[in-house]
Amino acid sequence: MRTQGVAPWSRPIIPAVDGRPPAPGQHAAPADGRRSASGANAGEPSAPSTLTTVLVRRRIDVTGSVQGVGFRPFAFRLAGELGLAGFVGNDGSGAFMEVEGPAPAVARFEARLRREAPPLARIETVSAADATVRGDGGFVIVESVAGAGQRTLVPPDTATCDACLAEIFDPGDRRHRHPFANCTDCGPRFTIIRDLPYDRPATTMAAFPMCSACAAEYHDPRDRRHHAQPISCPECGPQLRFAATGGGAGVTGTDAAIAAVHAAWASGQVVAVKGIGGYHLTCDATRDRAVTALRERKGRVEKPFAVMVRDLDTARALVTLGPAEIDALSSRERPIVLARRLPDCGVSAQVAPCNPDLGIMLAYSGLHQLLLCPVPGCEIPPPRVIVATSGNRSNEPICTGDDEAAARLGDLADAFLMHDREIHVACDDSVVRIVGGVEQPVRRSRGYAPLPVALPVALQPTLAVGGELKSTFCLASGGHGWISQHIGDLENVETLDAFARSVASFQAMYRIDPSVIATDMHPGYLSRRWALVHHGGARIAEVQHHHAHVASLMAEHGLDGADPVIGIVFDGTGYGSALGSGPAIWGGEVLVADYDGYDRAGHLAELPLPGGDAAVRRPCRLALAYLGACGLAIDDRLPAVQATGDTERRVVARQLETGIGVVPTTSMGRLFDVVASLLGVRHEVSYEAQAAIELEGVAATAGRGWPLRFGLRGDGVIDPAPVLAALADAILAGADAARLALGFHDAVADAVARVASMVAAATGVRTVALSGGVFQNALLSRLCRAALAGAGELELLEHRIVPPNDGGLALGQAAIAGRTRQRQPQTRRWPCASGSPARS
Ligand SMILES: [Zn+2]
Ligand SMILES: [Zn+2]
Ligand SMILES: [Zn+2]
Repeated sequence: MRTQGVAPWSRPIIPAVDGRPPAPGQHAAPADGRRSASGANAGEPSAPSTLTTVLVRRRIDVTGSVQGVGFRPFAFRLAGELGLAGFVGNDGSGAFMEVEGPAPAVARFEARLRREAPPLARIETVSAADATVRGDGGFVIVESVAGAGQRTLVPPDTATCDACLAEIFDPGDRRHRHPFANCTDCGPRFTIIRDLPYDRPATTMAAFPMCSACAAEYHDPRDRRHHAQPISCPECGPQLRFAATGGGAGVTGTDAAIAAVHAAWASGQVVAVKGIGGYHLTCDATRDRAVTALRERKGRVEKPFAVMVRDLDTARALVTLGPAEIDALSSRERPIVLARRLPDCGVSAQVAPCNPDLGIMLAYSGLHQLLLCPVPGCEIPPPRVIVATSGNRSNEPICTGDDEAAARLGDLADAFLMHDREIHVACDDSVVRIVGGVEQPVRRSRGYAPLPVALPVALQPTLAVGGELKSTFCLASGGHGWISQHIGDLENVETLDAFARSVASFQAMYRIDPSVIATDMHPGYLSRRWALVHHGGARIAEVQHHHAHVASLMAEHGLDGADPVIGIVFDGTGYGSALGSGPAIWGGEVLVADYDGYDRAGHLAELPLPGGDAAVRRPCRLALAYLGACGLAIDDRLPAVQATGDTERRVVARQLETGIGVVPTTSMGRLFDVVASLLGVRHEVSYEAQAAIELEGVAATAGRGWPLRFGLRGDGVIDPAPVLAALADAILAGADAARLALGFHDAVADAVARVASMVAAATGVRTVALSGGVFQNALLSRLCRAALAGAGELELLEHRIVPPNDGGLALGQAAIAGRTRQRQPQTRRWPCASGSPARS
């Protein structure tokens, strides 16, 4: 409930001057309401009315992310410009205000409030109602109201704005070369906020008392830095320090420290750089030896590193950029954008071996900008492109603390560039890719988290703990789901600790005490085990993995679940429902689903996964198993067969014979692995989805695909045997691998369209939802779009807010498990389903 009218809390903190808001360029009156000496408006009429003007008063409530983004000063300036009286303040749901003045001016205020809101404001709703005219003498900003049970939206970290950048590079500005310049339109938020309401003492900037010049800006409602909590300048802000690893006090002073980094990069060294949401490990991306050294020390064999450049022009010289890539790169979120690498771009092949793309981002803070520009008077220039990969040991969370970084990154980095502003919340860089001109998240983190997703269904207080890989969680209540930043693969104690800390901090910040905890069904997932121990009395709800994928897509598209969708979920592995013959590893699923449950309307045919992890690491081993299971010859001339030794072949043969250690799987991700190995593209992987990524890269070089076609049975089972048989024949006949790779992508898209049409015809459901990590494949997504468009009147849903991979899982889990109104199970059964209905 909002407080209506003027309450005791509405004590002005920015009083009006003699009945009018201060004019531009004029200082606000002292806080005790004394008349300002420079009050240019002194002596003017005390109300903006004339004898012939009818005054109206309107109460306006705005919800959304409107705090910490300059919304109140914006309303203050707008009211001043339109000559309106009243007040504006923050409360637990957003901003409230009352405006009074001539009716046309009040109407203009309402219209412009939404249209001209500050760039970082994310308005969800604006509600307005008539109020009683009170004859206020001016417009004031009143103090925040901390409302019980209400919650504000914590803004994400945002790239340094153009105005701040201009100051950093203006020798006449007092923030010249200040790495930490920011304003209400930009700068860190999520990573520095310790508690709400969002005020400087509740951030890690509390350790830096503002100098008088900064304080004047902070208190001036006409200033770009009015109430910008993290502001600072070279006088009062954080300071840089450069130190060689294990090498004493090091170098302080912005220019000296940055020059030292440039020298280290120039001599091929790896420098750990403390940024916004954690440390990066950096080196000159054009030097093979430096990049190779970083790979060796990190134990990261082939997984691509991201690179950072100063500006778009530099990016254009490295990768192919269309308009959508340019928009994404230069957006205020500044994610890493996956883009096609240009030949001879000069970036070391070791940055992303065997990968046609580069993950590239623009410098997103003053510090990063300064690092990529020459230091005045210094001879050694910075490289034009640096590797900027998360500062962690493999499989551990990103480092944020200086002591922690020194301990954990000491043998990875030759030197450290630190600063003395604490990072309260770790937040990795986000990753996006452009599919058919539209931005799709691959990792939703810095710049996006912790903005909530508006939910189409009301949820009781719910915590969804996600899956295992690319872990995120979702804390939800009412109509909002707050999705955490990327936490990493929950495979070790360090990452689990980071997960638990983050859950605690979200619960405290949003004051949500979950009554339901949603988990995956997989008994081995650490997220599920954690929930079973730490549920604190909340009900545990298990949600099937692929059902959660479909629900995440429904939720982000605002579907209320009244109508089901045809969910086609292709991923690596997910724990199947324990119905029928027992648990299996699913991953090529066709589900007719709503939030209440799903019917398994089809799936990729089950194939044997021998030896679990070993088969996942070695696609060639899996290729032997698939060939054998499909009754195809293990021909020595096939690259996949050549890649295996006699022992491995005997082991696989024996496993298939006895069934010992063999798990049936319907995983589409594994089928991509097998095809990559059959074509000689990749026989052994060192990171998740490597084989599929490289297969996509090879396919993209072909002009035309080889004709291949999956079988599709009447019970919805998609049979890959005809595809594997045709591939084996074509390989032995010497067909071009790129054409075969493209043909395989074509065939998968064709199977998607055929099975979707079949299920649509049987059920009358016409919405097709594509989810699961396999759909990170941009080529496949494009082909599926085209194939579904040709399949008749089907509406297609794809991910735009959360990733199709397991990073998006938690949102779907929350939507399924947390709804306040759930239908009775078994109320609906779709006619074509091959399996039993399953009700979460
Ligand atoms: Zn700014
Ligand atoms: Zn200052
Ligand atoms: Zn999955």
